[in-house]
This record gives sequence, structure tokens and C-alpha cells, in this order.
Amino acid sequence: MIDSDRIVNEFVKLVSFDSETGNEKEISDYLLGLLSDLGLEVERDSIGNIYGLLTGDKDRGPILFSSHMDTVSPGRSKKAIIHDNGKITSDQKTVLGADDISGLVSIIEMLRVIKEEGLSHGDIEVLFSVQEESFCSGTAGYDFDRIKSKQAYVLDLSGPIGGCALAAPSIITFTETVYGKSAHSGFDPESGIHAIAIAAKAISEITNGHIDEDTTVNIGLIEGGSAPNIIPDKVVITGEIRSLSHDKALKQADHIEEIFNKAVEDMGARSGHEIKINFKAYETSKDSDTVKRYIRACEKSGIRAQTGKTFGGSDNNRLAEHGIEGIVISCGMNNVHTTNEYTSVQDLTMSAMVTLALATD
Ligand SMILES: [Zn+2]
Repeated sequence: MIDSDRIVNEFVKLVSFDSETGNEKEISDYLLGLLSDLGLEVERDSIGNIYGLLTGDKDRGPILFSSHMDTVSPGRSKKAIIHDNGKITSDQKTVLGADDISGLVSIIEMLRVIKEEGLSHGDIEVLFSVQEESFCSGTAGYDFDRIKSKQAYVLDLSGPIGGCALAAPSIITFTETVYGKSAHSGFDPESGIHAIAIAAKAISEITNGHIDEDTTVNIGLIEGGSAPNIIPDKVVITGEIRSLSHDKALKQADHIEEIFNKAVEDMGARSGHEIKINFKAYETSKDSDTVKRYIRACEKSGIRAQTGKTFGGSDNNRLAEHGIEGIVISCGMNNVHTTNEYTSVQDLTMSAMVTLALATD
């Protein structure tokens, strides 16, 4: 049986680790031992990601569950406070870390119940990743060849239990640099080329916010100039494009590059462009076995499944890149990445129920 008290105890324990991105060693040592005690064959790669395998019936296909071990900051010395109504918060000085400890405890409880009750299942693979919060850099170099599953559930979504995201965007960081020419602003301003003025003109031609229903653009950072009395010779503009269509995201990046090229052209300036593709968009079909299995698992747990899309990246983007059909599922986290983050005993319990139903389907 799913044991709420056990889930909450595990949650409190995992929250007590300082596990901000890049500092996952302690929580990872603990989880490695725990998975091993639960009968999984475990491995930790050189980056710090944990892989576990619980062998099951070969005639039932393998299934992968994944959550990440890191939290955003402020996440040091955090503690879970359990309120009378079942709500669980931090002390408001740090995040709670339900993102993604709620996912970790759901998977652990599922494994515990399976072991305790000797429930039948196929091969269960577990991937606990590091550095998810920095554009999933932890799994960027992961050896996905070791994963046998073609179906995956990434427990890393906020909102009510039963929610799941079938699609996620491409996320591209772009950097535009305008190179002008410095000169003294009082003695000889005309011999300078004003990089800030040129950049301002280009920026004014870029739409921030929604470009269409799939795509957003944001100029997020601008750095340039050296002194009030110097014509600035360099400005660096950094921004982000998100789109549920990878092509649309690339098109926007080209469009922005063109605007800057045009702006520098007539002014004798020069521009530099750089893009970094952090994530590539994917969409898992509503008719896929992965989604059908999730809907069944929710029904079995007395919850209605709600399919949707997310505008954030997750380790599921990585799985999709490697041909593994996954979805991101709600596991009991709200107001994530804030000190008002919370979960509840009820949500953690329901999430474990859904996870167990998935594993034993
Ligand atoms: Zn997360």
C-alpha cells in the first residue's frame, strides 16, 4: 500500500540536503544507496547522473521514470514545514525543492510498494539527473544508449496531479554584438560610431513577447559602453527565443540577425551573431501508447488526466532527442522557483499512486 507518512518522511529527508545545481553529491550518494537497497542495479556516470534498473518480466516492455536531483537557489539550509491542512512549504527563506523532490519521492514510493508486495512489472529504469535547472546540462552528455525503454515519464511538472505535458519548446539563446568605434564624446564625437544608438534602433524593431501562439522572443540583457564621455564601441545584447516549432524558433533567430545586420550596414559598424540551441522542441502524440498508459494510470488512481503543453524545457527534451517517447507529468509542485513553493501530503500521495499504476500497468 502507498504509505503517506513514509512519502512525507522521505520528502522531508530529501529537502534537508543542500542540492542546488552543481552541488548534488550528497543527495546523490543517499539516493544511490537507497536505490541499491531497493534491489536496483545502480550506476552513476562521470557527470553525476544516477541510472537504476529493476529487472522485471521480459514480456512486458521496459519503462523509464526520471526526476532531477538539483534545485534552484535559494536552496541552502532549506526545510520542509508540514501544516495542519497537509500543505508543505519551506520557511519562506528558500525554495522548498518540491521541484523536483516530489518526483523523486513518487518514484521511491513506487519502488518500495512493488518490493513490499511483490507486484509484477516489466523492467523499470530510473534516471535521476543532475544540473537539470541549468538547461539540463547534466543530461546533455548522458549516454542514452544504455536506456532500453521506449516509453518514459519525466516527473517534473507543476500543477494538479493528473496534468501532463505532451509538447515542449525549442529554447534558443541568442547573442547579438554591435561593434562601433570609440571617440571622445566632447572633442571629436563625429569620428565615433555609436554602438548603443545602433543597437537601440535594432532593438526597437524587434517584437518582444508572443510572435505567434507558438513563439516568444525576449531581449533580456544588454551590456555596453565604457564611460559617459566615450562614444560606445561595443554593445552585447542577449535574448531568448522559445517556440513549440523548432523551425519557427530558427526563423526568428535569422530574423533578428537580419535586423542587426541591416542596422549596422549603413552606419559603418559591424555585427556579430551567436546562437545556442538549449533545447529542441518535441511533441508526443495524444494517441501514443505512452499517453494512453498515463490516462489508464490516472483513471486507476481515481484522477482525470489532463493533457497540455509546457513552455519550459525538461529532461524529456533530451529523451526526445534520443528517440525515447516521453511525457512530463505533474508530481506535486506549485509556485516553483520561488520561496512560496509548496506541495501537499495529498498531492505527493496521489502522485505516488499514479506512478505505481504506471509501473505496474
Ligand atoms: Zn524541475
